[in-house]
Amino acid sequence: MEPLLTIDPRNLPFEGRRLTGTLPVSLVEIPETNTIRPTGPIEYNLHAVRDDDNVVVSGSLRAPFSLDCVRCIAPFDYLVEIDDYEIEVPIENDQMIDLTEGLREDILLALPSYPRCEDGNVSPRDCPAEGLFEPNSDNEPDQAPTDSKTADWDVLDKLK
Ligand SMILES: [Zn+2]
Repeated sequence: MEPLLTIDPRNLPFEGRRLTGTLPVSLVEIPETNTIRPTGPIEYNLHAVRDDDNVVVSGSLRAPFSLDCVRCIAPFDYLVEIDDYEIEVPIENDQMIDLTEGLREDILLALPSYPRCEDGNVSPRDCPAEGLFEPNSDNEPDQAPTDSKTADWDVLDKLK
């Protein structure tokens, strides 16, 4: 991935430097899947400061996505908001520090692994399939998520 956000440790003032702006959607695109769709630029508001042999970067990140609910398959908007972002990157021979790959990973990791309508934090809604497929879920807490997901798809096929 091309470097989109870099820090030159040699030019970092003692008090640090504020980094604000946006990064293109391509940062968090995943070619292998069409269920995780970034819908707009990533906003960053970070502060970078040198600490001995490291650069400490902290601040906040915002990245809008459209995800598919695993229950009802409908897409919903999800905004990744990380307000306590902090990473520490070692300085090696005063070389440029590239934050691109780390930001990409941290934003994608903040996405729900089993997205559901009720996770939507942009325009919240109840999942229309809520409760349809898991009437006994309270009694079967040990049921594996993959099993219940498979069952969901079976029921959905019958509804068509
Ligand atoms: Zn849903």
